[in-house]
Amino acid sequence: MRSLVLVGHGSHLNGDSAGAVYYYAELVRQQGIFAEVIEGYWKEEPSLRQVLKTSASTEVTVIPMFISEGYFTETVIPRELGLGHQGPVPEGGIARVIGGRTVRYTLPYGVHPKMQDVILARAREVLPDLDRPEVGRDTTLVVLGHGTTRNENSNKVIERNAAALRERGIFAEVHALYLDEDPKVGTWPERVGAKNVVIVPFFASEGWHTQETIPAELGLTGTATLFTDTPSGPQTVYYTKPVGTHPMIAEVILQLAAEASQARGGDLDRTHAESWRLLTRLAHGGLRVGEVLISPYSGLLELRHMLDEGRPTTDLLTYVTPEGLRDRVRQDDAGEYRPVRTFRTLPRGWRAVVDEADLRRALHYIYPAVVEETRAYTCHSLRATPWPTTARRQTGIYAKVQKASSAQVEAVAQKVCAACLRTRLWAAEPLGQTFFDGVPGGIPCAEACTYLVAAVRDELSAEKSPEKQ
Ligand code: SF4
Repeated sequence: MRSLVLVGHGSHLNGDSAGAVYYYAELVRQQGIFAEVIEGYWKEEPSLRQVLKTSASTEVTVIPMFISEGYFTETVIPRELGLGHQGPVPEGGIARVIGGRTVRYTLPYGVHPKMQDVILARAREVLPDLDRPEVGRDTTLVVLGHGTTRNENSNKVIERNAAALRERGIFAEVHALYLDEDPKVGTWPERVGAKNVVIVPFFASEGWHTQETIPAELGLTGTATLFTDTPSGPQTVYYTKPVGTHPMIAEVILQLAAEASQARGGDLDRTHAESWRLLTRLAHGGLRVGEVLISPYSGLLELRHMLDEGRPTTDLLTYVTPEGLRDRVRQDDAGEYRPVRTFRTLPRGWRAVVDEADLRRALHYIYPAVVEETRAYTCHSLRATPWPTTARRQTGIYAKVQKASSAQVEAVAQKVCAACLRTRLWAAEPLGQTFFDGVPGGIPCAEACTYLVAAVRDELSAEKSPEKQ
């Protein structure tokens, strides 16, 4: 068996940020090639520090869901996963044994040569006759990158794809143009003589750039097609959706995973399997985990908010898939995004009915990694990471948290962690019994989460801001 982990950036502020990874995880899951497909994030849960523990297999392939190589794929993700590697990832990826699991870390999906096919697929969407030679001869393709001197790698990917597509001879010309640096996308009329111009944004997702700044540069007003007169005569500009939202990305992911390992697969991770066997057995007798009540229900298992205990099922919205439940519990009762899943803001008014096979994913979506970490705590194998170690690991804009005093960290934690069910082992808070022993809120926190790290950083920044002086 083999587990696949898709790693995205995520966000503490915007719940939609995780959507693309959820979408591709679901597409790949449907293929049934992997024993499981797990999502992990830098700024959501399960965090990169936790995600490997949630894998059921001893053979794990990790794919960074980024459009190009850079700081996250080369520094943050390898560091947080504990790969013991920093810097460019070699073509064949990196393989390490971590906690008894063989972990294979690949290049990001955006640099895979198969992305040429995704670019072509986007072009064919707007110009279905593209493959007829007389149409191709009259068409120029523009592969459009963001362009930033901070990330040369992203420009290299654009140039490489443009060169490869040029060689395929489908288009009259292929140009690599950029939004923020030369050659800029607005210069296309000086460069393109063909009757049709197809502009494909090599971006990971829809956003401000793909929906506003690029159309503004192109002179598109609420339409994806522009008819214009240029020095070369009448031309039609077709502006496509970004490559990163195309369903073919799922094929790129599968290809990357296949290239990462020809191994026949790993074994069941015994510790992981035992944790879930115990949890499932307890659930059949009725179990409270955090704010959730799990009870047996007609041979299945029902999850609901424990404050909804005894409410008629007709009063509650019923979910029968882990995904439906996931989308509900990501928001609180006021519809606000819940950046930390163990915050005491689990919404009410729902129930989920799942079989044993889906219990793990359902509970994982409510409380990611909580079963694995709590079981490890009860077995004395959960290692707490003190704040100074977490702070020392931070880089980039978070490096400044290394300057926070213990009193400052504690003051921020008092505010942030007061809303959380977990007990801070990393700050030497005592934790007695856990939900495995019948204490629902007994959930350990082994290490300060990225939400708290960000809050400490914000506190330091606020202290320095002129308004506060
Ligand atoms: Fe909860 Fe605080 Fe731990 Fe974050 S650091 S998971 S807020 S206890």
